[in-house]
Amino acid sequence: MINLDKFRDPVVAAKLVKRIEGLCDGPYAFMEVCGTHTMAISQFGIRGLIPGSIKLLSGPGCPVCVTSLYDIDRMIAIAGLKDVIFTTFGDMIRVPGSHSSLREARSQGADVRILYSPLDALQIAAENPQKQVVFAGVGFETTSPTIIATVLEAKEKGIGNFSVYPAFKTVPNALKAILESGKTKIDGFLCPGHVSAIIGSRPYQFIPAEYHIPCVIAGFEPLDILESIVMLLEQLRSHKKDGLAFSVQTEYRRGVPDAGNPNALAMLDKVTEPCTAEWRAIGSIPETGLCFRNEYVSFDAAKRFEIKVEPAKEPVGCICGQVMMGLHQPDECPMFGKNCTPESPVGPCMVSSEGACAAWYKYGTGN
Ligand code: SF4
Ligand code: SF4
Repeated sequence: MINLDKFRDPVVAAKLVKRIEGLCDGPYAFMEVCGTHTMAISQFGIRGLIPGSIKLLSGPGCPVCVTSLYDIDRMIAIAGLKDVIFTTFGDMIRVPGSHSSLREARSQGADVRILYSPLDALQIAAENPQKQVVFAGVGFETTSPTIIATVLEAKEKGIGNFSVYPAFKTVPNALKAILESGKTKIDGFLCPGHVSAIIGSRPYQFIPAEYHIPCVIAGFEPLDILESIVMLLEQLRSHKKDGLAFSVQTEYRRGVPDAGNPNALAMLDKVTEPCTAEWRAIGSIPETGLCFRNEYVSFDAAKRFEIKVEPAKEPVGCICGQVMMGLHQPDECPMFGKNCTPESPVGPCMVSSEGACAAWYKYGTGN
């Protein structure tokens, strides 16, 4: 068991802050890709500790926030079908779709259940052979291996009334799309720790190589984040001074092997293949989704239930997509904290526990 206190030591934090102040010859904008980084940065007041010339931008790393309205609307429609038990991790249930949410569907009689593990859904399927049990396949490379392992177990045990609605997302090409859009000025990436524990550090190497931007894979404690900012600044400094090339470094060594988790990657590759995914409020991005391979397509709930829904409507005025592209901070949304709060969220960034708007609302905009 790791003692987390040593990653929260205020004396070491103060030294790192001094180091940041000494190194920063900004202004710089660093994007924290992952929702848990966004939460930790707000919770520990990191923005208030570092020089104002370093801007920390939220990225698209909250899986609930980026699940498209179309997918949410279809999941709600499937949940409403007769003899369907729809199962999901907790955050998804509150996310508003175009007209409703899974929670509202449940209040209207749909059998929607919150689970902590997809394996529980398999158990429910085994106990209810007359029902169809569907699991919401929402998550990044961190979560998808567990869900895919459940599909493999369903196949092995011959549990045919279990399926997964595939709304999986993968991170590296989403970063490419943000860079290709040319809209966001980014001087460095804090890359996601958990995702990288699965994919390793290599999939980010195109970022320094092609876009000349440094990357640091960061852990989630305050000292991890401060140390990662130091590492980005050091790369920027030695690039400026000595012309050294940028690279992908790993601060989160205790969680991320360079090669990631080859077993999890092999399992994902066995069952799924990369496909274009629709990112909420951002649009379609090639090779950022995982679709079932032909041999496993019978577990694809989107194909098993051929549900058609009306074209999706984004909530008027919500700028969640721009927040997740690093173009705006949450408090620049006119609805922030007024008609959009965690109790009554308008957009997904206010719902999810990893959402940028929820983080700013919970811990204060000034941080
Ligand atoms: S799953 Fe982990 S790495 Fe991925 S976005 Fe959430 S907290 Fe970040
Ligand atoms: S405050 Fe609410 S409406 Fe505004 S961007 Fe965030 S989620 Fe969307």
